[in-house]
Amino acid sequence: MKRLAPAVLLALGLAAPGAGAAAEPGQLARLEGLVRSADAGALPALLAAQNALMADAYPERIAYLHLLRRAYADHGDTEAAGEAAERIVKMARAQGDALNAALGQLARAATLAAVNDIDIRNANLREPAFTAALQQAYGDAYVKLGQFDFAHSHYLKALETARQHPELLDPTVNGLRLAIAKVYIYTRAPDKVLSTLATIGPDGGALSPPSAVRRFVVEGIAHVMQGHPDRGRVAYFKGLQIAHAHGLTLFEANALGNIADSWLEDGNYVEAERAARAALPLAVQAGDPATRRIAEANLGFALAGQGHVADSLVYIDRVLAEERADKAEPDLANMLLEKSRMLEKAGLVRQALQALQEHHHVAAKLAAAEHENTAKVLHEQFEAQRRAIQIEGLRRENAMKDAQIRKRRAWQLVATGGAGVALVLCGFVWRLYRRSVRTSARLRELNGELAFHSTHDALTGLLNRRSFRDAMAARAPGPGRCFVLLDIDHFKTINDRLGHAAGDEVLVEVARRLRAAVDGRSTVLRWGGEEFLVHMDGGDATGHADLVRALLAAVAATPVTTAGGQRLAVTITAGALSLPAGGDDAIDWQHALALADQALYRGKQDGRRCAYLDVADATGAVARSMRLAPDSVRRQDQQLQA
Ligand code: GH3
Ligand code: MG
Ligand code: MG
Repeated sequence: MKRLAPAVLLALGLAAPGAGAAAEPGQLARLEGLVRSADAGALPALLAAQNALMADAYPERIAYLHLLRRAYADHGDTEAAGEAAERIVKMARAQGDALNAALGQLARAATLAAVNDIDIRNANLREPAFTAALQQAYGDAYVKLGQFDFAHSHYLKALETARQHPELLDPTVNGLRLAIAKVYIYTRAPDKVLSTLATIGPDGGALSPPSAVRRFVVEGIAHVMQGHPDRGRVAYFKGLQIAHAHGLTLFEANALGNIADSWLEDGNYVEAERAARAALPLAVQAGDPATRRIAEANLGFALAGQGHVADSLVYIDRVLAEERADKAEPDLANMLLEKSRMLEKAGLVRQALQALQEHHHVAAKLAAAEHENTAKVLHEQFEAQRRAIQIEGLRRENAMKDAQIRKRRAWQLVATGGAGVALVLCGFVWRLYRRSVRTSARLRELNGELAFHSTHDALTGLLNRRSFRDAMAARAPGPGRCFVLLDIDHFKTINDRLGHAAGDEVLVEVARRLRAAVDGRSTVLRWGGEEFLVHMDGGDATGHADLVRALLAAVAATPVTTAGGQRLAVTITAGALSLPAGGDDAIDWQHALALADQALYRGKQDGRRCAYLDVADATGAVARSMRLAPDSVRRQDQQLQA
């Protein structure tokens, strides 16, 4: 649907029968139905009903504004959605309605600090609508900071709540699945992107047209990451069609940009040129410089691929000049690298070298900025947590002071003489002082706990993902090592059958067993959810195979008994990568983990309760792969060619 001018819609509203009079019965429910199904007619219908519904009682008015906000958001009009959220906040505040005021604020919160603030100020709100929106807002804020682990876990919490409360308008189950799939794009886990997208079903809440386009673009990117640009294009085209049908010009330009990109990757420069030329006017029309630059750059590289180097440089150099002027360093670095490759291919070695030198210069600057940014992000996160603790402390102190003041009033009634009052007040001040000393001690304690929790998982007490990142950053290249990713089999079934608490017990017990199964060279971490990571520092492929077998056996050997007395046969599947001494130079830890994750996936495909151990050589190439089972002796393990 093309964007309708609000004035036109208002005029429609004024002209609509019944406008200005009270709302018709069932009108709000009908509008809600339209919004829930992401119907293109929802926004015009809402605007037409504005006068009637805003003349209604408060519950109807606030419900109306929530519908309006989501309809604008679904329509891709962020600004108008923000204005509706502002109206929600104002109206709810005037009514002393904390829940809706908080929901309106969350819809507008743009930074982690803002979300954190809303969280702190509404610590007493327990409504699922608030929980789900809060966790989603945290997820969004962490995505912006590039803290994808945190984003993922908050989105999962939101998803859990949304699943249990399908009546919520926002966030929807499918919207959250899409958000999670996007996180997997950033963490470069295309298989997880695809499996997450596959769960987007008809009953998780309708995706709005912009979200539906995003869904297919995300799917396309995952296919391209997996080395299937043809499949990627099929998805991009689906997104393109939706964008086109709904007049979402910017989305259309983006989908075409991705299509051009994938053709470039395939070396089909004619098709790449065609897609880029289609994207360009749309990007200009949408008024988005970044998208226009992508179109121009794609066009430039498509022309170069066809041998028209001089023409191509007109586009490429114009984009480069804009990126330099805008200090868009990440894009600039990429473009320079691409340009130097293109020139090299064209035999223009001197110019290629020049572009490469500038690339190095920009990349070095970027690395420095990245370092600073990481520090800033950590600082912001730390500040948010510190403020949470401080406010908690203040809240406690206020409660205490209130109690003290009540007590003092009582005493004043009793004490009649002036001296008596002074004495009592003295004692009061003294007690307050004692209390505040104790409060500060508690704050120090809390800070200590915070330091622990930032590196440890609260449920299992194992080290967490962040601590591993720090350890890896600090580790010097050295002896051989092994990365083992472990994932509990059919864990969801345990949760579903026996409840989340029993699931937690299983997690704690599996963590205990894994820790007991390793020696001092290995670290056991909770990687997230029901996934664990074991990292062995030292050892060779034989030792690594022994480690993996021992881990599988430790979990599978005896059933886990829950507090409720159920005996559960818990098994685990593992994927491992064995690196020889010096292999660090060839493969960084993120890459090693990605390979271990692929091995894990093979284990799951192969019936679970087993492991695949990929053995890399000093160049980082996987030289062989072993299938291991918990009860197998070494000679029964199948040797597989990589
Ligand atoms: P598979 O064998 O393929 O791994 O199947 P699965 O059921 O284990 O896999 P899936 O990834 O679908 O399910 C993992 C579940 O773990 C989903 C999530 O709700 C649950 N989970 C994640 N973290 C926790 C937690 O801290 N406690 C509990 N009880 N459950 C959790
Ligand atoms: Mg899992
Ligand atoms: Mg699992």
